[in-house]
Amino acid sequence: MKYYSTRDNSMRVDAAQAIACGLAPDGGLFVPECVPEITEDALHAMRMLSTYQERAAYIMKRYLEDFTAEELSAFVQAAYGENFDDAAIAPVHDLDAGTSFLELWHGPTCAFKDMALQMLPHLLTASLKKCGEKRRVCILVATSGDTGKAALEGFADVPNTKICVFYPKNGVSEIQRLQMVTQRGKNVQVCAVAGNFDDAQTGVKAIFGDEAFASELSRRKWFLSSANSINWGRLLPQIVYYFSAYCDLVSEGRVALGAPVNFVVPTGNFGNILAGWYARQMGLPVGRLICASNENNVLTDFIRTGVYDRNRTFHTTISPSMDILISSNLERLLFMLCKDPAQVRGYMDELKRNGRYAVSDEIRSAVQAEFSAGFCDDARTKDAIARVFREHGYLMDTHTAVAYQVLCDYREQTGDQTPAVVVSTASPFKFAADVLEALGAKAGADPLAELSKAAALPVPRPLAHLHNLKVRFSGSVEKEKMEQIVDRFVR
Ligand SMILES: *Cc1c(COP(=O)(O)O)cnc(C)c1O
Repeated sequence: MKYYSTRDNSMRVDAAQAIACGLAPDGGLFVPECVPEITEDALHAMRMLSTYQERAAYIMKRYLEDFTAEELSAFVQAAYGENFDDAAIAPVHDLDAGTSFLELWHGPTCAFKDMALQMLPHLLTASLKKCGEKRRVCILVATSGDTGKAALEGFADVPNTKICVFYPKNGVSEIQRLQMVTQRGKNVQVCAVAGNFDDAQTGVKAIFGDEAFASELSRRKWFLSSANSINWGRLLPQIVYYFSAYCDLVSEGRVALGAPVNFVVPTGNFGNILAGWYARQMGLPVGRLICASNENNVLTDFIRTGVYDRNRTFHTTISPSMDILISSNLERLLFMLCKDPAQVRGYMDELKRNGRYAVSDEIRSAVQAEFSAGFCDDARTKDAIARVFREHGYLMDTHTAVAYQVLCDYREQTGDQTPAVVVSTASPFKFAADVLEALGAKAGADPLAELSKAAALPVPRPLAHLHNLKVRFSGSVEKEKMEQIVDRFVR
């Protein structure tokens, strides 16, 4: 299967090239030229596969024809092993008769980014080899918190790679910050940026766009690539868990094979939910994809009205990984719905110029035919955490709670009682202070220990010793000067 860019569908590249490049040369995102079909028989066959690893190889093979079955099998074993604290990798937890949580935070950084970023280094290094690339790669990441740590964990000490992570100085939780600034590895760099996530992301995009800098790095036998969810190699591993969760629900007898399930997804850059959309396109019986936002509800408005407008106040919330006003992956959805690169280019130009665009009636109807949307502020998020803990003894993190509350609202507004899966994107311990407050306690000096006591749950191993680790990276930079950091690091 070939891939092309959302801004130019005349060029075709292999999967390995798409993954090696990250962003297409014309500034667009790579998408597969067709979507492979998983029939009901194939879904049944997949359900019979007993491990997550086998299911992952089964789905990924459909998109990666230039990779052998042996390669993929080695990758999935390496990516999803002892580094996860649950053998199921992405277990489903049932809350009540019609509601389940898909827990995507059992990996080394306790957030869902591990599902993709434990896999990406394998896909990327193999892709570079297939492309005959002789230069080494430096991964450049702008993070709202969780991507940075997950990418650092994925790439730490991977031969012939370096990784440089920028995070917004006041836009990540204390635990997220500690996780990053204490990162081990000889090939890693971490730096704070004065500004919010969009500033960091814009800065990284500017570095990618600097051709003179690229040729200088090339002279040094280096080039830049991305681990942000604009890379197809990030999106693909995420398609797997939608299938896996569905298979588990069928196996438990909660749904009949072929019957629809709704998924509600806490959304920021639109990567996670877009993977769900691909799963649906492939034939997974997904009812509605419900896009959940916090107060940064630009996507709620877009899905309801067809107008994307980032000209609004940026809110710093207790679900910081969703504090985003420009959702990069939406471009992939727009392209898939119209297949017209000129139209997509027009929207993206308008976004850049005016911070706003309105899609055609056709695209708006197509979006609304598959997606619903809602949002939830911090107060209601905390209320949902307390309520679910009180009534079910189940503890949600702040992002998952946004999704759960949006599902409750959706059910009340529509009466839709289709079984639903809440995509749970972080361990509650990762946002311990806010989760504690939601439970009515005041966070003190050691929120992890306090939450552990309040909820009678063990602190996940990767977080338990954070405070004892040495801080390796204390620098910060103005957003205009990010390139200098990379320049000094990549030598
Ligand atoms: C990244 C992240 C999200 C948002 O996912 P997108 O793919 O960017 O939409 C939600 N919750 C958590 C905990 C995250 O780390």
